[in-house]
Amino acid sequence: MQKGSFFENSKRLFHKSLQHIAFSDDALKILDRPKETIEVTIPVRMDDGTLEVFTGYRVHYSDLLGPMKGGIRYHPLVNLDEVTSLAFLMAFKCAVVGLPFGGAKGGVIVDPKKLSKHELERLSRGYIRAIYEFIGPDIDIPAPDVYTNEMIMGWMADEYNKISRKLTPAVITGKPVSLGGSLGRNDATGRGAYYVLRELVKALKLKPKNLRVAIQGFGNAGFHAASLLHQDGFRIVGLSDSKGGILTEHGTLDPSSIMRIKEKQGTLEGVYCKGTVCDVIDHKKVSNEQLLESNVDILIPAAIENQITKDNAGRIKAKIICEIANGPTTAEADELLAKKGKLVIPDILANAGGVTVSYFEWLQNRSGQYWSEKEVHAKLETMMIEGFRSVYSLQKSKKIDMRTAAYAHAAKKIMGAIEARGTTAYFKQ
Ligand code: NAD
Repeated sequence: MQKGSFFENSKRLFHKSLQHIAFSDDALKILDRPKETIEVTIPVRMDDGTLEVFTGYRVHYSDLLGPMKGGIRYHPLVNLDEVTSLAFLMAFKCAVVGLPFGGAKGGVIVDPKKLSKHELERLSRGYIRAIYEFIGPDIDIPAPDVYTNEMIMGWMADEYNKISRKLTPAVITGKPVSLGGSLGRNDATGRGAYYVLRELVKALKLKPKNLRVAIQGFGNAGFHAASLLHQDGFRIVGLSDSKGGILTEHGTLDPSSIMRIKEKQGTLEGVYCKGTVCDVIDHKKVSNEQLLESNVDILIPAAIENQITKDNAGRIKAKIICEIANGPTTAEADELLAKKGKLVIPDILANAGGVTVSYFEWLQNRSGQYWSEKEVHAKLETMMIEGFRSVYSLQKSKKIDMRTAAYAHAAKKIMGAIEARGTTAYFKQ
């Protein structure tokens, strides 16, 4: 793996935690590389009669704590380094919140916006045919990720069922509710992030109404986090998407009305220029770079990886950073933020709400008993608060940053599963 890669960056963040726990060399050797890497080709007949062959991956990082779990990403820039790193993060994320899962991830190199609906369905079914032997409710359970959605998960589960000639809804999570999906999955990531942020704010004895929040990435996770924070009295002052952002010095932005107008107009920039209710709020247009460095108390990167780097970390003003995106901070930037006393709620804790409700979906599919949305929210809240408290108390007692504490907490659990199978010290006697 080349230096500076996403995978190397993720491992560096994990290695930092090792000085705070007794971690055996055996465990380190095992966690250094994925359990297995699957690369497949997926031939797809296009609507015009030509044949395209797409490349797909599924990386099984670790099954030490249970069947592996992780999303499938469709993106033109998907590559093995990224998929491996995301699989690695999944292994730690599941361990942080106490899920009985290991980590995996999948991806296909494709620009899904360029495919027709029929081509997208053929590709999705083709991907499942290609990785069929490597997934299953007791092996590896895929889910949606960037540019894959519940309809795609429905097609994938259906293809798996057709090949196996059995109905196995627990093979894939994030399905439509009518195909065995769980209520409460759609907003789970944003909601989980809201619960941990709320707990941190309580622990610091801060008042939401005094806290200005900026969110980079006004997509599924960013929008739901923004809405819940807004409802709880936090001041949402900055929002951005891939086209740019908006920032207000006074008042607070209302995420729901902004989303309605964005859906009509296509950009956030247009929202305050042409909208109705939002016109009254004084605002300015900002770039994504400016949004990250804006004068706020809480910054929430909820878009893509590598946004806070050594180049801009010194200019981040927010005291609290809540990472909804996977890997938004590089290892070098992380050092700089820690030195400046910033409180970073790391991705492996902050965005674990999605996989937690996926776990609930898997449980419901296997038991045949389905839960109300209220039950899902209550169980999610309990698990996120427990995850937060374990990490926060470790951070306090060891005087370390929250990311290091989260990795240490997760690593201890994974190492327990490695050592229970025997260690070098045991076998050398
Ligand atoms: P999404 O596609 O719904 O939203 C992504 C948003 O980011 C969009 O508004 C897009 O315009 C914006 N964006 C893209 N590039 C940007 C850039 N360079 N600068 C600013 N904004 C940019 O995706 P999502 O499901 O909300 O996921 C967002 C992040 O959260 C991803 O990193 C994803 O891996 C992570 N995540 C999501 C979930 C989930 O359940 N949705 C779970 C865990 C982690």
